Amino acid sequence: MLALSGTGIGRRVAIGKAMVLDRGHQEIPKYEVSKDQVQSEIERFQSALARTRAELRRIQQEIPDHAPQETNAFIDVHLLMLQDPVIAEQPVRAMEEHSYNAEWALKTQADTLVEFFRNIEDPYLRSKKDDVHQVVNRILEELMMENDPPAAALDGNLAGRVVIANDLTPADAITLHHRGITAFVTSLGGPISHTAILARSLGIPAVVGLHHAVQYIQNGDLLAVDGYTGTVLVGLDQTLLTEFQQRQTKQAQREQQLAALRSEPAITRDGYPVDLLANIELPEETDTLERFGANGVGLYRTEFLFMNRTEPPDEAEQYEAYRAVLDALTGPITIRTLDLGADKQVDGGRADGAAKINPALGLRAIRLCLSEPTLFRPQLRAILRASIHGRARIMIPMLSSLSELEQALEIVREVKHDLARDGIEFDSKVPVGGMIEVPAAAIAADLFANRLDFLSIGTNDLIQYTLAIDRIDDEVNYLYDPLHPSVLRLIHNVICAGREAGIPVSLCGEMAGDPDYTRLLLGLGLVEFSMEPTRLLEIKERVRTSEREKLMGQTQQILGCADPAQLRMMVDQLNRDGEQKNELFP
Ligand code: PEP
Ligand code: MG
Repeated sequence: MLALSGTGIGRRVAIGKAMVLDRGHQEIPKYEVSKDQVQSEIERFQSALARTRAELRRIQQEIPDHAPQETNAFIDVHLLMLQDPVIAEQPVRAMEEHSYNAEWALKTQADTLVEFFRNIEDPYLRSKKDDVHQVVNRILEELMMENDPPAAALDGNLAGRVVIANDLTPADAITLHHRGITAFVTSLGGPISHTAILARSLGIPAVVGLHHAVQYIQNGDLLAVDGYTGTVLVGLDQTLLTEFQQRQTKQAQREQQLAALRSEPAITRDGYPVDLLANIELPEETDTLERFGANGVGLYRTEFLFMNRTEPPDEAEQYEAYRAVLDALTGPITIRTLDLGADKQVDGGRADGAAKINPALGLRAIRLCLSEPTLFRPQLRAILRASIHGRARIMIPMLSSLSELEQALEIVREVKHDLARDGIEFDSKVPVGGMIEVPAAAIAADLFANRLDFLSIGTNDLIQYTLAIDRIDDEVNYLYDPLHPSVLRLIHNVICAGREAGIPVSLCGEMAGDPDYTRLLLGLGLVEFSMEPTRLLEIKERVRTSEREKLMGQTQQILGCADPAQLRMMVDQLNRDGEQKNELFP
């Protein structure tokens, strides 16, 4: 038996058989074949083409009825490309003329084609280079995996399997969830990446940042995945299997115990009510909210509607998605406008060969929306039109300057004006709030608070940007510290700014769903928490055993503490159940 260790996600354990999806990035091999091998190399290439075609047809048949129409068209385009002479014939010529191996022959021809598309002015046609990349990558995978077949190609049904991959994008995680996986393990990735967030939301235990997972784990290995500790046991014996099964039983018992809190109020022991809302990524998640006693959404990450497809959803499709959530729940529904960019790319970022420099600092979220009004306006129209079906709130992500906020608010005004002019109904009083997740905005939170109806602190990004730590880079995970004094001061500053301006302040980063920080945040004055729904009942339990007044005094001492080790100890002591009296808090 082998015990491997990474970072645990999801506070659950799972048992299942491994399904290794990829073996990480591989160099494209380049070599010359001897003259008498050229013909068999050509046949190898043609057979890979045929397998790619068969795989695309299989995927096409599996497309569910409710999938967007474009999904089919998207695969048709790829099937057509497989017949294009540049892909189907020119590599053969390169093999005949230069005796290249099939992979290299295909790559050289594809590079020429990509370059051709890259230089086209029309942005739509230019974007077709992405399709070329995708098709060519599929053929290359077929060629390069001939001696090491990828498990996914052998079996489309992943029910009960633990997927092992070098890395997974949020878009991949959605697909795998629909295919029924029980857990996943990746070599790369950190606990605050959007893939990890999605795993928690969907209740999938995972271990990320487990270096070389794809090398150590083989298809079919029986695995135990511990989302608490980040341990993966490979090749379980009967004793350990029984132990893990017992832990699963205990997990179920604990869930039942927490379920008793479902309709209890979230109120501190000394009588302060606290709002506990849910973060959702997909409209279908509303079905599970009731199970966790949530009737409102503090963060609806709408960018997930835009993933795994070639064309963005239009206004009508978005309207239906937002309306479904508003119809399903009676509480506030905080619809965040698009936060695409960084690790949230529509296709997982694979299509564009050229990697972006510092994508988290690039054209992301509101920056992208302001530069592409054709994305932003239909979304605002859809949210506003849906607003008559419930308590919608609009939330703008990643604000960093007031001028950006003013531009966004101006567009909201214009969209409202257009709707009113056309006699289309909407709630003219929809609150517009902003996410405070860039240090510049947290420091000047008062300026933003004066112009917005509510603020929501996005600690995932706030910590990333404050401490200069890429949230998806497993190598710097250890520096990702919610208890860093600078982070605590920024959070406190935003809560105070909201209070002064008389507007609500919520916190919707992962910190809100971690019971180790609940009391600290209550002490900092937070009364609205938004988190993955699966975290809600445990946080409610923590709220109900806390005394807010006392915590507020203790937290002032924590804010004044200069020694990180002592600060951590003080937070630990806040978290100890029962009496909150001890030597550190006289
Ligand atoms: C955050 O940054 O804390 C947040 C909630 O937004 P996201 O995780 O989607 O970036
Ligand atoms: Mg964010």
